[in-house]
Amino acid sequence: MKKTGWQSIVILGAQWGDEGKGKVTDYYGSTSDYVVRFQGGNNAGHTVVVAGKVFKLHLLPSGVLHKNNTIVIGNGVVIDPAVLLSEIKNLEKEGHTFRLKVSDRAHIIFPFHVSLDGLSDAYKAKKNLSALSTKRGISPTYADKYERIGIRIVDFVNPVIFKKRLSLLIDLKTKQLSGVYGSKVKINSKKIASDYKKYARELKKYITDTSLLVDTALKSGKKVIFEGAQGMQLDVDHGVYPYTTSSNTTVGAVLTGVGVGPKHISKVIGVVKAYLSRVGGGPLPTELKDETGDHIREAGGEYGTTTGRPRRIGWLDLVQLRQSVRINGLDSIAITKIDVMDNLKAVKVCTGYKYKGKVLKEMPADLTVYENCKPIFKSFPGWKSGYGKAKKFSQLPVNMRRYVKFVEDNIGIKAEMISIGADREKTVIV
Ligand code: GDP
Repeated sequence: MKKTGWQSIVILGAQWGDEGKGKVTDYYGSTSDYVVRFQGGNNAGHTVVVAGKVFKLHLLPSGVLHKNNTIVIGNGVVIDPAVLLSEIKNLEKEGHTFRLKVSDRAHIIFPFHVSLDGLSDAYKAKKNLSALSTKRGISPTYADKYERIGIRIVDFVNPVIFKKRLSLLIDLKTKQLSGVYGSKVKINSKKIASDYKKYARELKKYITDTSLLVDTALKSGKKVIFEGAQGMQLDVDHGVYPYTTSSNTTVGAVLTGVGVGPKHISKVIGVVKAYLSRVGGGPLPTELKDETGDHIREAGGEYGTTTGRPRRIGWLDLVQLRQSVRINGLDSIAITKIDVMDNLKAVKVCTGYKYKGKVLKEMPADLTVYENCKPIFKSFPGWKSGYGKAKKFSQLPVNMRRYVKFVEDNIGIKAEMISIGADREKTVIV
């Protein structure tokens, strides 16, 4: 299906995040009317390159760079208002104008969430408990949401409710900071109240019932992209828990994080990087701890957009990808960064795992099993660079096409896009 043949698509990371969703969303964003985020917060990092200029976005959806789009931050997102305002101002400074809508039901991040994130992370690191967080206050904010003590945007712009809820929250967080973590951090409630009053004034014009907005848009035939952040394996339910993020990153989160019905989704595209990368701890059976891994890391610029941390690198894992196809009901994939693997002698993909002499074809939930899984690889001869101007699949190197075909056959769905470079132009539609 060509990019014009859809009304609403979900674009999701099909692996451990950083698959290049920003570029893929930006590509489809040229013909859409709305681009909507539905989960996560400024722990995400999308990079979009337009005519050689690099835009790094953390909270605003990637479609922001196309004037035709209304960009929407849904209720499932947690919002640091200072970060949101600074992203808005930075883009405006560059001459970009955009229509932004922010859900009245999204939850707000406060400075004490950021402090708690750091303290909890340091504790977990000491106990070797889980992955390092981005320390942006995301998980403490989600925790407050589910404990029903969080503050939503609608509460934040209502001075009476805000004062009441903030005082309750600060009281609880003060106890948590000192009682649980023995921290000396003092919450400056006066400063928070005055800063957040200012943020509320500045953000007010963007706030609306975005569920109604998006539903109405869909019913009137507008084209909508739902843009995922992070990736499937970071989903708090289906990912490699506890080495995950604190939200659902899979397709179900679109429904809850925006407030639209499932029948509105016409297509789900999984963004698949031609190799793997991940940040933080946890098992990664196809991990490359050798020169090939170093080469891919450097060639692919695999350093965190938000944190600058070097990412772990591995070969493409089809066990993991098949799970992603199933859980997300993927219709097709967009393969990105295949050019990063240019000029390698051999390119490998993992088709199954060996565990205690048995072959596993599915992702085990038990991490004591998963960390002892050994990958079963299929090796392909590599390809040379020099196809940078390709526009059609047939113009790509034959060995690359064989590799893509093998992946498609193994996961049971087709690639509809192959990205062969960071720039918008370097895109092959299959
Ligand atoms: P996202 O969060 O999934 O959007 O991923 P990131 O922004 O962390 O990483 C994607 C990075 O790869 C960005 O720097 C993109 O500009 C770049 N990128 C995207 N697609 C391609 C591609 O096909 N080839 C190359 N070489 N770089 C790409």
